[in-house]
Amino acid sequence: MSIDFSNNAPFVEEEPLVSPTLTREDENEYSLRPQRLREYIGQEKAKGNLEIFIQAAKMRSEPLDHVLLHGPPGLGKTTLSCIIANEMGVNVRVTSGPAIEKAGDLAALLTNLNENDILFVDEIHRLNRSVEEVLYPAMEDFAIDIIIGKGPSANSIRLDLPKFTLIGATTRAGQLSAPLRDRFGVTLRLELYTPEELALIVTRSAGILDAPIEPDGAMEIARRSRGTPRIANRMLRRVRDFAQVVGDGVITKALSDKALTALEVDYLGLDNIDRRMLRAIIEYYGGGPVGLETLAATINEESVTLEDVYEPYLLQIGFLTRTPRGRCVTPKAYQHLGIALANGAAGMDQLTF
Ligand code: ADP
Repeated sequence: MSIDFSNNAPFVEEEPLVSPTLTREDENEYSLRPQRLREYIGQEKAKGNLEIFIQAAKMRSEPLDHVLLHGPPGLGKTTLSCIIANEMGVNVRVTSGPAIEKAGDLAALLTNLNENDILFVDEIHRLNRSVEEVLYPAMEDFAIDIIIGKGPSANSIRLDLPKFTLIGATTRAGQLSAPLRDRFGVTLRLELYTPEELALIVTRSAGILDAPIEPDGAMEIARRSRGTPRIANRMLRRVRDFAQVVGDGVITKALSDKALTALEVDYLGLDNIDRRMLRAIIEYYGGGPVGLETLAATINEESVTLEDVYEPYLLQIGFLTRTPRGRCVTPKAYQHLGIALANGAAGMDQLTF
């Protein structure tokens, strides 16, 4: 089985430590990727379903049905696709929606696949319309229509493709066009991980990196990683540097705490932007509701960054709620920020919502 990343999206250069997006710093994360389903921690529901579909497809000697994976970035969608390829014993070609610019690019990718291979398209909601139209017959009939010539003499010929599996990944399932969404036989939603699951991931990664770690040290990193394995692995590498330079090399709870506090990530994994976002809602909009665009303009950040990077975790830990009229901060967030006390108010029990 081989994995071809040559047509993948470029790294994002400058990103905060808590960003779930792939950055230059994560370049060596490939070595941390689990290879088999049994090594893939958490996501029990998605894993259970996949196990059955993979077995059934193998028994019939057919390719797996097309799979749509959705959920926030950094949760293991690419990893899972490579695992599916491993389990099926086929090759995977990794690309992304924005990297496929023209219909011809997609045709080239598809005609180069072997029977039963997997084509993984990250950010599939960003495919352009003309490319998407080539995908419909490819997914449904394993064929593409090629137009030869121009004007009245143009001719369309149908080219058969090898049977393949398309795995699409998206952070925004709602932005997928209905015809594309309907062509996926299997849809799996990945959820944010629990701190316990993340501690297992951190311990496993520390083993691969040869970094001694204590269970409390792994848990400390896990609690601050916003439910996201990519962030957990990135924090682990930073804490390992601290452990080597200011400690004796062993990642302990105290050392993780010291390192991550120095990096301005608090004990729940919130960074400056989270805090600015929550404070702005409290200080300028009385705790909400406030629309996302207004909020983004207030703190001078992109609204997509707030929505994709910051909001999922703040919603998960119950610091933020979404209402039809906008975002609201919860009493829990006030408490975490110590705002009532800082304002001279009596305390949380006197705040009414
Ligand atoms: P996505 O494609 O959703 O953005 P990736 O598949 O690139 O996320 O995962 C990011 C990193 O997190 C991978 O390098 C992998 O090491 C780690 N990872 C993700 N999910 C798991 C998991 N379930 N178990 C162990 N490691 C994981």
